[in-house]
Amino acid sequence: MSTAHKDWIRRRVEAVRSVYTAFDALTEHGHGEMIHDQDTASQLSCPVHGPDTRPSARYYPKMGGDHDYLHCYTCKIHADSLNLFMKFKGLPFMEALKDLERRFRIRVPERPDSPELEEPLDRSSSSYVSAAWQNVERVIPILERKLLRLRDTASMIDYVKFCRVLDAVQWDLDRNDGKPTPQMILILDRLRKMMDSVRPFDLDFEA
Ligand SMILES: [Zn+2]
Repeated sequence: MSTAHKDWIRRRVEAVRSVYTAFDALTEHGHGEMIHDQDTASQLSCPVHGPDTRPSARYYPKMGGDHDYLHCYTCKIHADSLNLFMKFKGLPFMEALKDLERRFRIRVPERPDSPELEEPLDRSSSSYVSAAWQNVERVIPILERKLLRLRDTASMIDYVKFCRVLDAVQWDLDRNDGKPTPQMILILDRLRKMMDSVRPFDLDFEA
């Protein structure tokens, strides 16, 4: 994952933590009884590995610019609000993040853009994907711009199809924590070739 992408995710996590605290996550999922209040460190039964005779987890309130969290001295879980929400809901990271963003109507900062790529020169083999075009994170915004240019020339059916493919890959990439798979690379390469083969409508009338 690139630094820009990591930074983008980090900012989203911080935005979520600023409106949804570990205290909120614990109390709304039935683990608030032993926590005194949001400003007081409290010992409690661990919500992750289960209750024990001597409560082994501790709630740590927010200190300065930091955020509050839970730490368990037995199972060693160290969890902020998002980690706790993932555990309680059984959600993977990106889904938990998006869930909370939707719930608190947090505006997601714009996905980081990257410099334009050169078109690959070697097109001799149909399965050939140049190294530059295997960088899914950089290829997606380029294809998005290509798509914008096609809006007026491609048929509506093609245009909608291209949008859907691009959205699906973007969605998979987010769910996979920004890590591209060989399948995504192939799909995007096929999409790029399909976009390149679209004949503008006005040329049809010349025949
Ligand atoms: Zn524990």
